[in-house]
Amino acid sequence: PFGADVVPKAPEDPLFGLMAAYRKDTFDKKVDLGIGAYRDDNAKPWVLPVVKKADALLHSSPDLNHEYLPIAGLAEFTSASQKLILGADSPAIASSRVASLQTISGTGAVHLGALFLSKFYHPAHNPNPSVYFSAPTWANHHQIFSNVKLPIATYPYFSPKTRGLDFDGMLAAIEAAPRGSIVLLHACAHNPTGVDPTREQWRQIADVMAARAHFPFFDCAYQGFASGSLDRDAWAVRHFVERGFELLVAQSYAKNFGLYGERAGCFHFVAGAGAEGADTAVRVASQLAILQRSEISNPPAYGARIASAVLNDAALFAEWEDNLRTMSGRIMAMREALRAKLEALGTPGTWNHVTEQIGMFSFTGLTEKQVLAVREKDHVYMTKNGRISMAGLNTGNVDYVANAIDRAVR
Ligand code: PLP
Repeated sequence: PFGADVVPKAPEDPLFGLMAAYRKDTFDKKVDLGIGAYRDDNAKPWVLPVVKKADALLHSSPDLNHEYLPIAGLAEFTSASQKLILGADSPAIASSRVASLQTISGTGAVHLGALFLSKFYHPAHNPNPSVYFSAPTWANHHQIFSNVKLPIATYPYFSPKTRGLDFDGMLAAIEAAPRGSIVLLHACAHNPTGVDPTREQWRQIADVMAARAHFPFFDCAYQGFASGSLDRDAWAVRHFVERGFELLVAQSYAKNFGLYGERAGCFHFVAGAGAEGADTAVRVASQLAILQRSEISNPPAYGARIASAVLNDAALFAEWEDNLRTMSGRIMAMREALRAKLEALGTPGTWNHVTEQIGMFSFTGLTEKQVLAVREKDHVYMTKNGRISMAGLNTGNVDYVANAIDRAVR
């Protein structure tokens, strides 16, 4: 029953194909700017010192066992995660309007939210709402939401001309979307463009979303990793909660704790600011537990225990903030270095966007042809859309990469 007409061979995931090509390359100066994972100045994975400490603490505990976690996950992890993203003094937490479940990292949180919406979000005036993504967005958003059969639409986001935000296009499309549409927003450090709205622009987005009764779904994969400040990176989410929106948040600890493979994440439903909010949160939590049970039964323990140990201890938390500043600071230094080198070379075009963009990625503006040229001639690997992972740059290769880009765009 599984002939090629029924199950055609799927194309390879472009990012994983790129990684495989990089691994095969034997050139000694090759550079990997594809992968979305932090690397230190020696191009090596970095286990955060605070994670090493938390790990040692965990393993010295005589009570450590391998029992199942509850369906909703480790309670001290989910409650600390609420405080981290919404703020410790959030009125939504104080009035019990938040329902949170531990998930399989950020991907699992996005999926749980998508599944919940596909089952329960059918407003009377728009019973089969579309979910609106930025164009472009993290490619997996398309797959996750199609899997649960939610219709997909996009809003303009990136302006190739300014290599910044197409704010007018974005706002107009959100305004034109049918009332009650779902709008997926990157909380900070937009992937793949590195372009975020300003606070004033977020306020205007919130105005339009409120006027059109749209439903916000925040994907937050880079809190603290983007600016180095956990609070600053959570500003947009907190602003929407303050405005009284009912919303969803998908939270990942992959990047900000370097816990990529441990799959630590959290999903939050925040009920609106009305008096019935606490009751709504209880009902929603009960349904989310059923969805979770049917999909993964119980979330994985290790990563959540590590994150929880740090989030719930003032001294470890402060050390984590320091580790975050190390990562975001190194990335910002690489943005400065790349821009300075390109400008010193007189590379055609403007390069201010390299330092204006934020987070793990930069949309360089290189064309597909230029991307292939730097790959073939200089063994520098980036995705075809010209996105580079800033974490792949270091003091040892930034000049080499700048020279390769310079040759390709001339
Ligand atoms: N959302 C965005 C925008 C991302 O960039 C990522 C990771 O690259 C994720 C979600 C989910 O990552 P993970 O499942 O590893 O937490």
